[in-house]
Amino acid sequence: MDFKEKIRVILDYPQEGVRFKDITTLLADGPAYRAAIERMVEFAQEKKPDIIVGPEARGFVVGCPLAVQMGVGFAPVRKKGKLPYETIQAEYSLEYGKDALAMHKDAIKPGQRVLIADDLLATGGTIKTTIDLVQKLGGEIVGLAFLIELTYLNGREKLGSDSDVFTLIQY
Ligand code: AMP
Repeated sequence: MDFKEKIRVILDYPQEGVRFKDITTLLADGPAYRAAIERMVEFAQEKKPDIIVGPEARGFVVGCPLAVQMGVGFAPVRKKGKLPYETIQAEYSLEYGKDALAMHKDAIKPGQRVLIADDLLATGGTIKTTIDLVQKLGGEIVGLAFLIELTYLNGREKLGSDSDVFTLIQY
């Protein structure tokens, strides 16, 4: 299947010069969505994760079906202030200033094998912060899976070993 043709590219959103990759067109196509998740499952199964971790909100759209299909759990990463129980936090830089992502402090058990899933790898900032959270909780990162990679932003370099990173579509 040509997954790239299922992605709608919006010019100059949310600001001039950005070519925004809109995955809603892929999500709306049942066979394409399922096939995309199946391809990620093939990669993920080899890594034998105990749990999938995904950052809000599009990381849920990818990570949850992956977890259900594999019969493993899912743990959400959210912007700080959104999770009800005790959390740990890690900061990340925005264009102007900083923000923080959070996880429940018991979301990962020490030694658990963790696979991180998200829609798109751009600079890798979000995923690097997610990795920090998982490692703080004692999780072992065994793989990272994305629908889309913007290769020209070199986000991969932040993420360690190439063989642990799967991307379905590259720009
Ligand atoms: P980053 O931390 O730079 O890897 O990007 C964080 C998130 O921003 C990604 O997971 C996407 O959800 C979103 N994002 C960044 N660039 C784009 C883009 N060109 N099109 C769509 N989403 C994007």
